[in-house]
Amino acid sequence: MLEEAGASIILGNTYHLYLRPGHATINQLGGLHRFMSWERPILTDSGGFQVFSLTSLRKLTEEGVEFQSHIDGSTHFLSPEKSMEIQAALGSDIVMAFDECTPFPATREEALASLELTERWARRSKQRLLELHSEPPAAEQAGVRIVNQTQALFGINQGSTFLDLRKRSLEGLVEIGFDGYAIGGLSVGEQKSAMFEVVSHIASFMPDNRPRYLMGVGTPEDIVEAVALGVDMFDCVMPTRNARNGQLFTSRGKLNIKNSRYKDDPEPIDEACQCKVCSRYSRAYLRHLYLSDEILGSVLTSLHNVSFYLDTMGAIRQSILLGTFNEFRNSFLSGLARGQD
Ligand SMILES: [Zn+2]
Repeated sequence: MLEEAGASIILGNTYHLYLRPGHATINQLGGLHRFMSWERPILTDSGGFQVFSLTSLRKLTEEGVEFQSHIDGSTHFLSPEKSMEIQAALGSDIVMAFDECTPFPATREEALASLELTERWARRSKQRLLELHSEPPAAEQAGVRIVNQTQALFGINQGSTFLDLRKRSLEGLVEIGFDGYAIGGLSVGEQKSAMFEVVSHIASFMPDNRPRYLMGVGTPEDIVEAVALGVDMFDCVMPTRNARNGQLFTSRGKLNIKNSRYKDDPEPIDEACQCKVCSRYSRAYLRHLYLSDEILGSVLTSLHNVSFYLDTMGAIRQSILLGTFNEFRNSFLSGLARGQD
């Protein structure tokens, strides 16, 4: 379904795959691409974000983080080196450096200490991934079979909402040298205006010849705005999570399929959408599936939302190539603001 919808890359969660089914199992089965029969690129996160947001009783040291599994409470330890071993075992195409996602809010001192730790961890991440790829005994000792020879490594910018700290963090990362640069630690509870202030400031200093990735963002309008500021890549649970909760994204803003006004509505979710769901099913039927707790409802609404996001990104890329991005942005945003009839 994702291939047909035009997805060119998907994201795998290192934390979840490490706990279940285990990276060693996936490695033995040929890596994540083969395990789930996905031949296109895969990005894996470092596992850090989930450790900091999902688990309890974590102990953070210079070495790494000790935490308890959210599944069975068992104790585990994740470090930059361990995160690289897991991601090498999974064989993703884009590996993320292990960072500390600075909690929000943070004082200046806390944000500074956190970004310095992230910088030291970024250096260790790069060194370990290089070692695993260039020294067969190192990979063997770690129990990792190299299944992807060409893994790219991205560094993650931190610094909370302090603009000078963001710049300092980026300079440190660029000095170490990465294949791409991510903006982390946003979309974690700060005001949206603060998020855009950081993106606007830091994107202007990011290397032109490397991908720029804004992590955990966002709504369709946030994505278009961040592209205007110079961001290339995004990841977010919103299209699928919101679909499961009945919230659908359309060219005329959000639509809640639970609403009784759609009870006998024969129209598609979005008449401007070319996806398989919109070409075939009515709002009334999708509402019925949702209210019946039918799994197919979540599948179809997720497929529409993912298609809407992919189509939006496709339209953004095309408008950039044609030199008409600003016109696209204005008409896209005014369409969203129109709302449903
Ligand atoms: Zn659709």
